[in-house]
Amino acid sequence: MSAVEQRSAPLLATERSLTGWGRTRASRARVFEPTSVEDVLELLGSGAGRGGGLIARGAGRSYGDAAQNAGGDVLDMTGMRRILSIDRERRLVSAEAGTTVAELLTALAAHRLMLPVVPGTCHVTLAGAIASDIHGKNHHRDGGMARHVASLVLCTATGERLEVSPESDPELFYATLGGMGLTGVIAQATLRAEPLPSCVLDDADRTDSLEQTLALMTAEDPHRYSVAWLDLLAGGSMSGRAIVSRSNPLPKGVEGEGEAGHGRHAKRAGMRLRKPLFDVPRRFPGALLHPAGVRAFNALRWRSAPRTQRGHEVPLAPYFFPLDVLGEWNRLYGRGGLIQYQFVVPVGQEEALMDCFELIRRRRLPVYLAVFKRLGASFGGPLSFPLEGWTLAADLPADAPGLGAALDELDDLVAGCGGRVYLSKDVRLRPELLQVMYPQLERFEAQRERVDPEGILRSDLARRVGLCGGTR
Ligand SMILES: Cc1cc2nc3c(=O)[nH]c(=O)nc-3n(C[C@H](O)[C@H](O)[C@H](O)COP(=O)(O)OP(=O)(O)OC[C@H]3O[C@@H](n4cnc5c(N)ncnc54)[C@H](O)[C@@H]3O)c2cc1C
Repeated sequence: MSAVEQRSAPLLATERSLTGWGRTRASRARVFEPTSVEDVLELLGSGAGRGGGLIARGAGRSYGDAAQNAGGDVLDMTGMRRILSIDRERRLVSAEAGTTVAELLTALAAHRLMLPVVPGTCHVTLAGAIASDIHGKNHHRDGGMARHVASLVLCTATGERLEVSPESDPELFYATLGGMGLTGVIAQATLRAEPLPSCVLDDADRTDSLEQTLALMTAEDPHRYSVAWLDLLAGGSMSGRAIVSRSNPLPKGVEGEGEAGHGRHAKRAGMRLRKPLFDVPRRFPGALLHPAGVRAFNALRWRSAPRTQRGHEVPLAPYFFPLDVLGEWNRLYGRGGLIQYQFVVPVGQEEALMDCFELIRRRRLPVYLAVFKRLGASFGGPLSFPLEGWTLAADLPADAPGLGAALDELDDLVAGCGGRVYLSKDVRLRPELLQVMYPQLERFEAQRERVDPEGILRSDLARRVGLCGGTR
């Protein structure tokens, strides 16, 4: 069938139950699978979303309900995954919305390039990463996604195809970076790339307290990448003890030109993104993540790390995507699912940060994985998560006793010190805290009024936290 014939037939939808990576808050929607910009425009122009609203969905790796739309329409964008061009000289890559970070990295590596910002998994889509304005381990040095997108093609709810860049329409561009799909359907984007390093050289330290952890991760630290795993269940003065990893990319030139150097580079670098070694089975018993077991695991992990290690060579894929070796690891949390609670507190609010840790410990929340990073200055959109400060992402079984009340208390602490939670991970924020955490909401709403006056773009997240406006 030709492309024209394909487009002349109406796109069919299937009804599906959807969740985010946390596998909580399932909801049913009519799911369309466009394969071209024309498909998207046709859908928007032909009344999709009139009634129950519409939202775009990428790989469904946001933890919460951002890419769902109960009773309405969802555009599954993973059928649009062509890499459109790679300009090696100007270091620019253009691709369709549903191209995954893994696909982008593989294609770029063939040109000795890579993306300047990547999340902790390579399985997210380009547009999903843009809609969340994702940050990596280098936000304190290089900012998040918003800094590296040159332009994008946005299909608005009114059926228009707009080319948007920071120069052409800064307000709409930055509202879309971090805009959770609520300004339009991103169909394509062009990103800036950077030279592919050989590997990273990692300096690891085991710290005994939060003070030590923060001291290593200050803004003055010259390392480009910085991340810590925190043992949040250790008590007293040990609270905030961590394994801190700070690294720099090893540029290709350092290995020397010539055949030997090139050989070493190819062998070491490569974004060799292999399939997971193992898939967690469907009916994994979540009860294995019991608080006492988690506490013992954390203590063992902390003790078994070397006190200091310098210049350890780590290949790129395991360094950036350590969790991807285990397929479907969200099933580890059993039928109840998982919540990743991620918040940021501003620099200067370290006491509030300590209070948050203390609350987690006091409430005996079984935090199995707690990833701690430093974020640099805010840049970009009114709904972008990053602000200059400290961010913690804690994985928790969604059915842990007392979790809801404890997280509500944490929200109050975070909001009270000028911090915020990350909407891409959220499943439970109280709507009254949204404006406190994201004080530039009016700027965002102004763009929505402009490009989506009827309020077609809606999601479960948007309804739950009041992002669709009171009347929509
Ligand atoms: C293991 C793991 C590690 C992670 N590490 C990080 C990290 O280090 N840093 C970080 O910032 N995040 C991280 N995340 C979160 C993840 O990067 C974001 O949630 C990202 O948005 C997921 O992309 P996706 O393609 O799965 O999008 P989805 O989850 O499908 O959708 C996310 C949002 O993007 C919107 N969207 C998707 N496609 C489009 C489109 N074509 N047009 C408009 N809007 C669209 C959706 O409407 C939704 O609001 C991690 C997630 C996991 C599971």
